[in-house]
Amino acid sequence: MTLTGDVTLTDHHCHGVTAADLDRPGFEALLGEGRRGSFDSALGLAVRRWCAPVLDLPPHTGADAYLARRADLGWREVTARLLGAAGTARWLVDTGLPDGLTGLTEFGELAGGETGEIVRLEQVAEQVVAEVGGTAKAFDRIEAAVRERAAGAAGLKTVVAYRTGLDFPLTDTPPPTLAPEHRLSDPATLGWLVGLGARLCAELGLPLQIHTGFGDPDLRLQHADPLLLTDFLRATAHTGLTVVLLHCWPFHRNAAYLAHVFEHVRMDLGLAIPHVGRGARTLLAEALELAPFRSVLYSSDGYGLPELHYLGAALWRDALGKLLDEWLADDVITTADAENLVSTLAHGNAARDYPFSGTSRKPKPR
Ligand SMILES: [Zn+2]
Repeated sequence: MTLTGDVTLTDHHCHGVTAADLDRPGFEALLGEGRRGSFDSALGLAVRRWCAPVLDLPPHTGADAYLARRADLGWREVTARLLGAAGTARWLVDTGLPDGLTGLTEFGELAGGETGEIVRLEQVAEQVVAEVGGTAKAFDRIEAAVRERAAGAAGLKTVVAYRTGLDFPLTDTPPPTLAPEHRLSDPATLGWLVGLGARLCAELGLPLQIHTGFGDPDLRLQHADPLLLTDFLRATAHTGLTVVLLHCWPFHRNAAYLAHVFEHVRMDLGLAIPHVGRGARTLLAEALELAPFRSVLYSSDGYGLPELHYLGAALWRDALGKLLDEWLADDVITTADAENLVSTLAHGNAARDYPFSGTSRKPKPR
């Protein structure tokens, strides 16, 4: 099946783009996690193959010619073209890493389509700590600040995987003191913060996104296996909370297992799809082994380069279309069921789980 831009997507997890023209080192840095990317990679090949035509160049254009064309057009035009070509109708933007990136409004103007904000718990907490210091009162202030930000958001997100890891303590009570840390790392504080996010999300009918798997080099990957969330998921299973496991690679099979056994768990393969080249089809196939189809969402995890938002979409469509061709050839699925599956994964699941404008936000039935 060729999945075209007519299959509109909801990108439920992405970031802004760098609001500046980039030289080659600046561009290549953003082609990898922790600013360690390079054109000499599966992702670099994908940029040359897929993004070049969006800038009116032949597929597989060399890196220097690609960047020269990019510089001629300027970052705004390049961004508008690539985001427009993604065929994405709804973008949920994580605003927790604002440095040098377009804000929500500017991103929405360049991208077209509807935007919503995903609020990062640790960033809100760290802002409060920066303002009031590490007093015991800070916990109440953090709760009030998260509540205020959540009121206008489409979801909350935690990057606790980067801090204490996903084996954080489960607790509803704050520790006696809060360390005045610029970057929160105390396990008891982080455990309380994730618990707070889970309670507020359940109350407000918002999904809680959790970073798992692959990420920046400051991650200890062995602490980012979503299986470490098993006790947390058991504890939140009947609270009305929806948990979305982001990225997941290389633990996407573990995430699929969790989505299989916990009704309130969702997963995506954002970030991994553009990085793994031809492996994207296998990745999708492995996620869809155990994960119920209602639990798999699309995201690009695009960050910095609009190429990543576009490639997330183009390569996801390409990989899913080819995977479904294999299923059709083996008589695993009918064409009608395959078409249904595509729209479920592309936007149907996200439409059910996230509040969008035009839908009233009510707590979900317990
Ligand atoms: Zn992200």
